[in-house]
Amino acid sequence: MTSISTASKCPKCNNQGELVQSTPARRGMYESRIYKCTTKLCRWFDSNWLVQIDEDGNVPERDIGHVAKSFPNLPELSPEQLKRIREPKFDDDISLHQPGR
Ligand SMILES: [Zn+2]
Repeated sequence: MTSISTASKCPKCNNQGELVQSTPARRGMYESRIYKCTTKLCRWFDSNWLVQIDEDGNVPERDIGHVAKSFPNLPELSPEQLKRIREPKFDDDISLHQPGR
């Protein structure tokens, strides 16, 4: 577990980063802060990194270069439902049933 004071330091040069943006915690999400390296000689100069802070003020293990993506699960469709989606809405060609023909 990393502390916020460690996480706010540049991963490359270990100098204190500058806070660029802070997003307060929302339900089910960590507070996230974006820091920027201001050390001109550093390879990460002007680069941002993301720090997440949980409700206890702890910083989960830093996972540089990996951004977790979460997609909501699609509802499971039964074979019947899938079949219905593929079926056309009109079984008959309407033009064949126009009056007067
Ligand atoms: Zn740096």
